[in-house]
Amino acid sequence: MCQMRYAVISDIHGNLQALEVVLHDISSRGIDAILCLGDVVGYGPEPNECIARLQAEHILTLAGNHDWAVIGRLDLDYFNPLAREAILWTRHVLIPEGRAFLESLPLQHRVGEILAVHGSPRNPIHEYVLDGNTALANFLFCDFQICLVGHSHIPGVFTYMGEGRVASHQLPEASPFELSPDHRYILNGGSVGQPRDGDPRAAYLILDTALRSATLIRLDYPVRETQQKMLKAGLPWPLAERLVYGL
Ligand code: ZN
Repeated sequence: MCQMRYAVISDIHGNLQALEVVLHDISSRGIDAILCLGDVVGYGPEPNECIARLQAEHILTLAGNHDWAVIGRLDLDYFNPLAREAILWTRHVLIPEGRAFLESLPLQHRVGEILAVHGSPRNPIHEYVLDGNTALANFLFCDFQICLVGHSHIPGVFTYMGEGRVASHQLPEASPFELSPDHRYILNGGSVGQPRDGDPRAAYLILDTALRSATLIRLDYPVRETQQKMLKAGLPWPLAERLVYGL
């Protein structure tokens, strides 16, 4: 494994306030590369601005289900009514450059033993890795050492210890989680723009391949500003309200 410090960001969902805070934090930590695991848009009020920010930073970005829905690659029936409304709003405001960016996003990225996807290795767009059985199926599906996922907006780690044994752990905040060379891992660093683990702070992950560790970072951001922009944009109020609770 080449020795790198990655910042792994995911599920920005058009929340520029959260993205700016996260990128600022990343810039102070000696990171070699940033990976974005998709769902750049959907829910939040500034899809074009978030896309422009990722492009300006040359951040390698993967496709998520909301990105695909906005460009018409995924049926809206997959989404609940509020998510659908936000997707339709995003379609309406998306500029051609933003659309071209979303259309260009790959489904996965592989560097050596590290695989990055939005949902899961066997179903990058749709599948949530939330339980041991789903994690096991994905450990057996292909041969990554470390798989980086988003999609659920819930930080955590699944560890494969061989012979069908999977353990799940929470990632401690700001404290490195050690990655043994003898085990395999599925890591989720949570969501930048719409956390759902009961903590409203923006989340991202630092993967250090030299130290073999993963560190979850949580950051306060001005939630009120995002909410006000959502109201002004006419996005559904419950989507703004949930940001306060991280749900
Ligand atoms: Zn998402």
